[in-house]
Amino acid sequence: MSVSDSERDVAIRRALLGDAEALSVGTFPIDLFALVGRLGIGIVGEGRASGPHLGRLEHRGGNWTIVLPGQARSEPILLGPRERFTVAHEIGHYLVEARFGYRPTGTREYWKLETLCNEFASSLLLPIAALQAKVRRPMVSARELVDFTAQVAREGKVSLEASARRIVALSPIPAVVVAILPPDRTSPFGSVGWTAQNREWFRGGRGRKLGPEDLLSGVASNGADLPAGASRQVTVDGASDAMVNRRHDVILFSALFADAPAVVPG
Ligand SMILES: [Zn+2]
Repeated sequence: MSVSDSERDVAIRRALLGDAEALSVGTFPIDLFALVGRLGIGIVGEGRASGPHLGRLEHRGGNWTIVLPGQARSEPILLGPRERFTVAHEIGHYLVEARFGYRPTGTREYWKLETLCNEFASSLLLPIAALQAKVRRPMVSARELVDFTAQVAREGKVSLEASARRIVALSPIPAVVVAILPPDRTSPFGSVGWTAQNREWFRGGRGRKLGPEDLLSGVASNGADLPAGASRQVTVDGASDAMVNRRHDVILFSALFADAPAVVPG
């Protein structure tokens, strides 16, 4: 990559994350309909089932429009946690387009921009000041980690994944939240839904089937038989505190690790 590419990337990233903080007005949940209205962007349903893409930004008849697959064309648009993230992500694309006129030219640039727009979406939906006010730092237990994740998801109208990623990223203590899909016929040890971690600890690729030797395969079977909403402490190598929490469709594993800062307020 040339120096100018890298300088351009840094400038775009700085501008976009600055925009996220400014547009979010420091609170959540943000009113996305009001925001797109202010920016002059439309939202329409595509009127057919979801394809591989969650949404896209189109320039139609002189206006920018966010197109959501899987939403009826004629009905009012419904923004659940997933759609809210998609809309926030597409606002990121709009800002990059509007402010820099930048479009990626290769696969590498494309994915870099995708990552940046995801980062923008996270910052817009869960602004850092509001998050810090909500989440006690540093967290003192795996229970607290999973409780904050659920609370911020509910109050911020975002997915558990988006919430966990943001909370874990802010944690000064090594922390991990993994959503495990319960064991079934094709994945007898369960599989990975998503992973949020601030240290490289778990090989957490989405959809990866857990094997019998896997760090978390025991955890998956341990959590699978719990009733929805129930939790259980578990022991995992290296973790100072770990827990499984059964949600209706996934098993949430949360853990904190021992190499925490010296001072942990009680
Ligand atoms: Zn995108």
